[in-house]
Amino acid sequence: MSHKIKYYSTNLRAPEVSFREALLRGIAPDGGLYMPRSVPELTRKELESFTDREYYEIAFVILNKFLKNEIGYKDLMSLCRDAYNFSVPLEHVADDCYILRLDQGPTASFKDFAVRMMARLMNYFIVPEQSHYTILTATSGDTGSAVASAFHGFKHIDVIILFPLDEVSETQRKQMTTLKGNISVVAVKGKFDDCQRIVKRAFADEAFRNLSLSSANSINIGRLLPQSVYYAWAWSRSGRKPVVFSVPSGNYGNLMGGLIAREMGLPVEKFVISANENNEVPEYLRTGIYRIISPSLNCISSAMNVGHPSNMARIIALYGGVMNEKGEILRSPDLGRMQDDFYGISVSDQVTRETIFSGYNDHRVLLEPHGAVAWKGLQHFLSGKSPEELNGRVFISLETAHPAKFPAEIRRILNFMPEAPPSLSKLAEIDEEYLTIENDYNSFREYIQKTH
Ligand SMILES: *Cc1c(COP(=O)(O)O)cnc(C)c1O
Repeated sequence: MSHKIKYYSTNLRAPEVSFREALLRGIAPDGGLYMPRSVPELTRKELESFTDREYYEIAFVILNKFLKNEIGYKDLMSLCRDAYNFSVPLEHVADDCYILRLDQGPTASFKDFAVRMMARLMNYFIVPEQSHYTILTATSGDTGSAVASAFHGFKHIDVIILFPLDEVSETQRKQMTTLKGNISVVAVKGKFDDCQRIVKRAFADEAFRNLSLSSANSINIGRLLPQSVYYAWAWSRSGRKPVVFSVPSGNYGNLMGGLIAREMGLPVEKFVISANENNEVPEYLRTGIYRIISPSLNCISSAMNVGHPSNMARIIALYGGVMNEKGEILRSPDLGRMQDDFYGISVSDQVTRETIFSGYNDHRVLLEPHGAVAWKGLQHFLSGKSPEELNGRVFISLETAHPAKFPAEIRRILNFMPEAPPSLSKLAEIDEEYLTIENDYNSFREYIQKTH
């Protein structure tokens, strides 16, 4: 008998579902987030074989453990090969320290890893049904461009992206508005929160029933599973030793990927949780008190400006607790075990800038603000450790965006412009297409009724 892995809701008040259903629903009917009921294990042999495998092959082995009774292995292999057609460099910095560069995908942020796979999985399930879905998502920058790029050209899925007119960079905007085809982009004369409010109302609007709206945001389980792969990849390429990862965190989807990899058997000794000044999680680890930061603080590592991470409920669930959408802890997790597994640290903007400076001048590594927060977090963790405590281990810091996405900041600190990868530099020549609407729900409604 072959069994599908079941996914439960972190609110514990919704039925368990298959991966397919969790993927297409996004959020559980009780408002909770889907989590796998059981995490399959990688054998020692499988783990060791990773050293000789390509990235997409490791992705296949890991995802196949979850999906083997829902997707044929040949199909899954070709989805993996198609999604991961770019390099994933592990840069040696000094001693046993590395930087994992997750910035070589088509939109130059680590979100490509999650969204490219999620898009292909959705498409895989939708096409045979001959149904049609519309992905509706609000973005403050990186998610929108990754989603637009990942779904571009799919015949059964349209994408509508809302962004705050004056709050995304020119590059980020162009990454969304130059694709066209099944990608529609709407600029809202308002803030990111306004875009999110419009999206939420649209999901509840009966008039849009026929569009089969689905979301592509970071709460989708289809984004989390693929993010476990690069942890295994980095381990396999750094000598297969016990490893400490430093993860620059905002909504903590990246960290969740690492936790899944560890549950599967990857020998992770500790996760350094590197936050910017939005320090609600490091503070929770220190004090056991969870306090949402609202509104969230505006730091230069802007993709991490989150005052209540959406994946917090999942982390709490993994440690035996229950947290609702409001961030209230209804059942306490095992805080002691969390404190053993995590090292939490908050890094200020000033220290982030100093780290970009010293990273380049001491080690010739080029970091952008998010990766710099992680690198600083790792340095902090390492300081004060004795040589015996460090012996036989490797330390890997995650870089989540390409430095060329932050040209002004880097130039101010280092006095030169980072060289843009081709995916970014060619944007300048392509025409844009997007519509600007007033900051109210009816303007959006009219737009949809005219165009979709
Ligand atoms: C989204 C993002 C993050 C935060 O990742 P989470 O999974 O939300 O913790 C960090 N860095 C960059 C560049 C991002 O785009």
